[in-house]
Order: sequence, then structure tokens, then C-alpha cells
Amino acid sequence: MDKGSLASALGSPAAFGQSQFALTRGNAFEAKVKADGGAELLRLAHEKLDRGAVPPAEAPVHVPDLSAAGPEGRTARTALALREAATGTPGAWTLLDHPMLALDVAGSPAFLEPDAVVVHPDGSWTVVEIKSFPLLDGSADAAKVGAAARQAAVYVLALEQVAARLAPAPRVRHRVLLVCPKDFSNLPTASAVDVRKQRAVTDRQLARLTRIEEITDALPEGVCFSPGLPAEELTASVDAVPAAYAPECLSTCELAFHCRARSREAGAVTSLGRPVRAELGGLSTVEEVLAAARGETGDPDDPAVAALRRAARLRAEALATAGARPGAAAGAGDGEVSACR
Ligand code: SF4
Repeated sequence: MDKGSLASALGSPAAFGQSQFALTRGNAFEAKVKADGGAELLRLAHEKLDRGAVPPAEAPVHVPDLSAAGPEGRTARTALALREAATGTPGAWTLLDHPMLALDVAGSPAFLEPDAVVVHPDGSWTVVEIKSFPLLDGSADAAKVGAAARQAAVYVLALEQVAARLAPAPRVRHRVLLVCPKDFSNLPTASAVDVRKQRAVTDRQLARLTRIEEITDALPEGVCFSPGLPAEELTASVDAVPAAYAPECLSTCELAFHCRARSREAGAVTSLGRPVRAELGGLSTVEEVLAAARGETGDPDDPAVAALRRAARLRAEALATAGARPGAAAGAGDGEVSACR
């Protein structure tokens, strides 16, 4: 399902994503990189990855039309263009602008759209990622490069599935081309990024994913996530599936605002973060934590319960000491244990 649409239908739309300004800037930069039939992009691919080949300025260059109806049609058109590039003019460079690839994820096809794929004169394929963060003196923010490498590694895996269907199978390069603005200008520059590690990790993760049929088999009878359903019905369906919200969800999942509200309503300790949850062992709600700290419930031999009681004692002592000082204001809760959510 499209979780973004589901979140909107539930009344808690996702708030992450690029700003309109960043999108416009990114699109303008990408258009500049691909202008002139991709002349600059191919020049960078030659310079950074394939200096031994004939420069694109001196060789035939193909930029096939990849338009087709729907993702399946575009995927088929991309596969055809890659096959034609493999058997077409020898020594030519081919640029696939926004190809569409399908990758099997847990038994269901996921459609992926790299910024570009370059077919080199030797028939090998390179994934191109165009980003709007700058390369300063040849290096960039490591976290952003890492994210781009992980993204490109998924495209490499999808391309390998296409290559495996051809005979002989073309080589998919494991060094991708990362194109960024140079320093603080709008001029494109590029860096070759080795994604072998990210590719191997993603491949292992994909192989371990639970099949979608197994997940749907485990759903309660009658559950449906269609965003067209009335909000109440949809909320009941989503609530029928256990969720373990954590603040980390805010940057990765479209349903984060919905799950955060539910988690807070239930007083779940997960909303305080995974490390806090791990420290609290079997205590799963704030109420349970407070009761354990007050000595009303919980096994005193449980390290989490013992630590909570010790903390409650220390807090009470600190408040009593503060209260005994002349002019000191009464502490919040006056010795009561409270939790900060
Ligand atoms: S718990 Fe987190 S990851 Fe799971 S659906 Fe909710 S927000 Fe998404």
C-alpha cells in the first residue's frame, strides 16, 4: 500500500520529504547535468570511470526514448533499450534518462527509477545518481554520500536482474557515478563511489525479508488498508495490527504521526525512544513504570524495577533536601514520582 496516502486518509499526513525549494533546485541541477543530450554527464562518466574508452565527444551517443504507459510498460521499455544498447552500434555510449527498473522485494515487484544509467562502449552498465548537495574540494557530507550509495546499490541489484536475463550478461559496474554541484557553484562535478558493501548488505536484507503473503496471512480477518475507506474503518484496520512506535519512525515512516499519537494515548514507553524501552525490560507503559517505581507493582529482583525504585528514592531525598532549604520552592509533585514524556 501507499503509506503516504494511508497517513493522509487517517488524518495524520506525513511531514517529511524535500521542500519545494530543494526540489526545484534539484530538478534544475539535474536538467543542467543532462542538457545537450547528456554530453556533460557522459563526459564525467568517461573521466571518472572509463578513461580507456573513446571519449563520448568522439563516439556515437544514443539517448533512447523510454516513455511508455505505466510502470510495467516503462520497465519493459527500459529492458528493451538496454538489450538494444548491448547489441547495437559497437563503441557507442548510451544514456538512459530516468529508466525504470523492477526489483523483487519479498515476492512483489518494486519499481525503481534511477536518475540515469550509462551503457559504456564495452557494454558495461553504470548507475548514475544526481544529488544537489555540494562536493567541496572533491569530498561531501559522509552521511549524504552513504545514503546515496545505499540508494544506488538497490539500483545496481535491480540492474543485475535485468542483465541476468541477457546472454551474454552485461557487466553491471559496482562503482556508481555520483554527480553533485562543484563547491558552491551550480557546475556539475562527479565522484566514483564503490557500492560493493552496500550492495552485499542490501542483497542479504532482501533475501531475509518475510514474504508479503506470510505477512498478509497473519492479518486479522477483514482488515483492509484502502485509503478510500471511511477514516473510522481505516483507523480500526490500522489499530488491528501491532505497532512499536519509536521516535526514529519520524524520519523513516509515513505513518509516524498516527503511530505517535496512538503510542502516547496508550502511554507506551516506546514513544520515549528505543534505548529507554530497552532499559525498562518488561515494563511497557508509563503507568507500569510509575507503579513499579512507587513500589506498588513489579518484582524487586528485576534490575529495571530495582533501578526505578532507587531513582525514586534519590529523587524523593533530593526534593526533601531542596524543600528543607530556606526559600526553596516545593518540588514538582512534592516527592511524587513523575515521568517526563
Ligand atoms: S510503528 Fe513506526 S514503522 Fe511501524 S507503522 Fe508506525 S510509524 Fe511506521
